[in-house]
Amino acid sequence: AVKAVGVRKSFGRLEVLKGLDLEVENGEVLCILGPSGSGKSTFLRCINHLEVPDNGYVWVDGAIMGYELHGNVLQELSIRHLRAQQSQLGMVFQHFNLFAHRTVLGNVIEGPMVVRGLRRAAAEARAMELLEQVGMAGKASSYPSQLSGGQKQRVAIARALAMEPRVMLFDEPTSALDPELVGEVLEVMRNLARGGTTMIVVTHEIGFAREVADRVVVMIDGEIREMGAPGQVLSNPSDSRVRTFLSRVL
Ligand code: ATP
Ligand code: MG
Repeated sequence: AVKAVGVRKSFGRLEVLKGLDLEVENGEVLCILGPSGSGKSTFLRCINHLEVPDNGYVWVDGAIMGYELHGNVLQELSIRHLRAQQSQLGMVFQHFNLFAHRTVLGNVIEGPMVVRGLRRAAAEARAMELLEQVGMAGKASSYPSQLSGGQKQRVAIARALAMEPRVMLFDEPTSALDPELVGEVLEVMRNLARGGTTMIVVTHEIGFAREVADRVVVMIDGEIREMGAPGQVLSNPSDSRVRTFLSRVL
């Protein structure tokens, strides 16, 4: 489960997140929609502490991101402990960020071997299961440059899953894809959702949000303006700026 309380973030004088509260249950799929520049990526980056919130905190399965309690004093985690904590959150970006000089299999086993200390044989066995799950087992020995965008993104998902994350965070995972490749990535995400993976998905794919999300959030100008069941938020939003935004994208 993820819980964010009072998350604020400014860059210089630009206030990008104006105090966000959010709870995501285990097994829940939450989609975040909103106009460009509304702070969606910044919020995801605050959740996994790639950005440090100016105010507020994020908990993942009860552990506070970026800090630990000493007695009743919060202290910043060391970089090593922060990296370990961040490795419990899977992140999939718009651009695939695969290691270009490693094979598909090499990409998926890297984290488990380096960060989690798995032996190669165990890491490879698990990686092949995950590649099977995303329909990429047949390309295990290919290099990223030999793959389509949709294939790269499916490998990126397998690579994130290999760390056995508590939560998967997706930041517009299909926005950089040719239209005909979007479906195969959404299909993998739909299957993950069915399997009970906790997911926070920033997306412009309204159809996916309507069909797969348990709840939908609409962010505008660094605020959550609407949150609820997809049917309610997408068909009958109460906030007028949300109605305007949705009328442009629906
Ligand atoms: P998009 O839909 O285009 O991806 P977004 O909702 O993800 O937009 P963010 O990327 O979170 O929006 O950016 C929100 C605002 O914060 C923008 O005005 C952006 O220019 C600004 N911003 C984001 N990161 C930084 C940074 N590191 N330094 C300065 N400004 C930043
Ligand atoms: Mg973004």
